[in-house]
Amino acid sequence: MSYYDKLIFELSKNGRRGASVPRGVGDAEIPFGAGTLWRETPPALPEVSEPDVVRHYTRLSQLNFGVDSGFYPLGSCTMKYNPKVCDEVPALFAGLHPLQEEETVAGARELLAETERFLCAVTGMKHFTFSPCAGAHGELTGLMILRHYHEMRGDTARTRILVPDSAHGTNPASAAICGLEPVTVPSGPDGLVDPEALRPLLGPDIAGIMLTNPNTLGLFEKHIKEIAAMVHACGGLLYYDGANLNPLVGVLRPGDMGFDILHVNLHKTFATPHGGGGPGSGPVGVTEALKPALAAVDGRVSAFHGNFGVVVRAYAYLLMLGREHVRELGAFATLSANYIKESLRDKYKLPIDSVCKHEFVFDGLLDDGAREGVPGATTLDVAKRLLDYGFHAPTIYFPLLFHQSLMIEPTETESLETLDEFIAVMRKIADEAAADPMLLKAAPHHTPIGRPDETEAARHPILKYTPAA
Ligand SMILES: *Cc1c(COP(=O)(O)O)cnc(C)c1O
Repeated sequence: MSYYDKLIFELSKNGRRGASVPRGVGDAEIPFGAGTLWRETPPALPEVSEPDVVRHYTRLSQLNFGVDSGFYPLGSCTMKYNPKVCDEVPALFAGLHPLQEEETVAGARELLAETERFLCAVTGMKHFTFSPCAGAHGELTGLMILRHYHEMRGDTARTRILVPDSAHGTNPASAAICGLEPVTVPSGPDGLVDPEALRPLLGPDIAGIMLTNPNTLGLFEKHIKEIAAMVHACGGLLYYDGANLNPLVGVLRPGDMGFDILHVNLHKTFATPHGGGGPGSGPVGVTEALKPALAAVDGRVSAFHGNFGVVVRAYAYLLMLGREHVRELGAFATLSANYIKESLRDKYKLPIDSVCKHEFVFDGLLDDGAREGVPGATTLDVAKRLLDYGFHAPTIYFPLLFHQSLMIEPTETESLETLDEFIAVMRKIADEAAADPMLLKAAPHHTPIGRPDETEAARHPILKYTPAA
């Protein structure tokens, strides 16, 4: 262990200070005086110098893998690199308080109204609420709107909602939380919703259908017009999960496909770094017919306008691209994804052979190296080995349609050279697996930690330093 691998507590020296404040300064800020609110023993904070602190945090940041340090092909998360300017703009609004006088927040209001107009233009919806703070939160809000719509018409029999088996787990979960019973729609062999499989499920008890388009396999639901007509004919509504809106921005609008309600994951499509739990924003949009139902629900899922800073980022991003460039996002993301897919399909199992949108899914290795007494390398092993070569792993074991899902999404921001490097490494790993799967099973070999027990790490994380007795 080197000196710099020590925890900051282990560097602590009694009485060492990073800054000094004249005696008495600060005491006065505690309103009720020393002796009442003052603690009796000082907290057990590390006592270190300023460079110790700087090195501590810088070192921690380098232990992690981020999009600022390398390629990050995580599928289903879409936008990973966010222009830095989009992070600067919200600082302009940092002094705002939600309870400020109305006439002092005209700029913020205008920004919300203009972002709503942009989102309407991109999605084909007519009205938005910015309250929801994530995609899943938007799903719940959208489904509350959907329920209200049916109830306002006195139609209380619609208690079931259709969800394809390729859907993100949040779709059936949001439905259940909203008091709707999710009904699974099986995908056809082409990975798409088959209208013929849908037909027998429709009836007077169906409140609607939740669809992601392109779906989680990165495939465009090409029967969408027919599906929309069928669901509407039975009295149901169409909910669009906007997590995969990227390849369609500026090209095709969910509203024109027949959707009635949708959410947009601003943190996936419009320039907010995500991961690590937020903040996010999942504005919900509806058609004109659903405006009263939206009004009934608006303001009930979060305070004020949700995560306003995330909306500011989306606004800045859309302004930056403008109408003329916004449609290039999807085209380049789609090209990058198909390029990787076609360059690797002789090494990895491609379960559905079709042109994809911004992402695609392999089902593990074509030759996993399994032999008598030697187990084959799995998708987890490939993902771990990638870390040795300096790449973040793709999304693994999602979607659940295949046993060895490896979901790759490069996005539009990566250069051809980066994509080629990734392809070369993925091919090398496939060859390693075929020759010696145990090399992959022991990976990663070069990261600060290897393979933690994921269950144990999630259920019983050790987040607190306990000093040696
Ligand atoms: C990410 C995602 C969601 C959920 O969105 P959050 O913002 O993470 O709550 C829903 N559906 C799909 C397809 C997704 O990729």
